[in-house]
Amino acid sequence: MQRALSRLSRETFDLLIIGGGATGCFTARDAAMRGLSVALIEARDFACATSAHNSKLAHGGLRYLRNFELSLVRESLRERLRLMRIAPHLVRPLPFLLPLYGAGFGERAKLAAGLSLYDLLSFDRNRLDDPGQHLPGHRWLNVRDAVAREPVLEGAEGLVDEQPRRAGGTDPVSNESAAVGATYLAHAGTFSEPGGTDDTHGCRAVAWRH
Ligand SMILES: Cc1cc2nc3c(=O)[nH]c(=O)nc-3n(C[C@H](O)[C@H](O)[C@H](O)COP(=O)(O)OP(=O)(O)OC[C@H]3O[C@@H](n4cnc5c(N)ncnc54)[C@H](O)[C@@H]3O)c2cc1C
Repeated sequence: MQRALSRLSRETFDLLIIGGGATGCFTARDAAMRGLSVALIEARDFACATSAHNSKLAHGGLRYLRNFELSLVRESLRERLRLMRIAPHLVRPLPFLLPLYGAGFGERAKLAAGLSLYDLLSFDRNRLDDPGQHLPGHRWLNVRDAVAREPVLEGAEGLVDEQPRRAGGTDPVSNESAAVGATYLAHAGTFSEPGGTDDTHGCRAVAWRH
């Protein structure tokens, strides 16, 4: 940490990232891998805020279908595919079982239509070299098959299986950001500072646990 502090006080960086959540850590990793010199400053611990309390799914935006936000679903699916291509070590397939209790014909038909549309929108999901990464589309299970898989669900009337998502975390990303050359510092706050030269802008950083 002392080394990071001294580099931060000495050097001028191409990019200063304030906040070491998922957004900051991924941006630092990406920028450092593109050859930029990067400094990342986090006020508390890396991924301690919103990024620590989410479901850790690199999902394809299934829930946006409910509001017919089709372009957002496609964007999420494209991002998921990109992650599978560039960071297969950070994401892994995660099958989902969605139990339906007391669902009428209308509700089943709506879900079936939504999931079929989702499969359609993710038409390119398996354009990957590694067949081991391929994701199946959704399928319906009857109660017997469902309970055989998940005995805890006894009493479910129907289940949708294998709507694949992928999970990942921020810790390996902050580690990797450092590995690819980003300078990072936790427990330091940043405050804007007016001024700087024409093409350089600065920011005051205060470390408080070193
Ligand atoms: C319940 C829930 C579930 C979710 N599930 C998913 C999911 O499954 N998949 C998904 O992709 N997304 C999910 N999300 C959304 C996702 O969590 C957020 O989009 C993401 O975590 C935002 O990351 P961030 O880096 O922008 O913000 P944060 O994680 O909040 O990071 C911001 C960081 O900036 C630091 N900071 C702030 N000001 C300063 C300063 N002046 N100096 C230094 N540091 C500073 C903070 O300490 C903090 O660590 C979910 C969100 C919620 C709430």
